Amino acid sequence: MAMESRTECPSCQSAVVPQLWVDARNRLEHPRVVHLCPLCGATVRESGGGMNRGMLALIIGSICLFALMLILGLMKYAR
Ligand SMILES: [Zn+2]
Repeated sequence: MAMESRTECPSCQSAVVPQLWVDARNRLEHPRVVHLCPLCGATVRESGGGMNRGMLALIIGSICLFALMLILGLMKYAR
């Protein structure tokens, strides 16, 4: 591997090859990839993370279902 992918660390300003730290502890989210400076340990760059679409759709779906049941319940009491 002759390719150099050095980037400047925002913390110590030295040209470093970032170390990757994959954070996949939260299973509801995409694995978060954090690029760490090997010299000072500062976060150089972050990528990934955030909700995945399937889980987001499930959450929105259950909220809609809950709202529907609430409305139906209120209609029952309104009569
Ligand atoms: Zn650094």
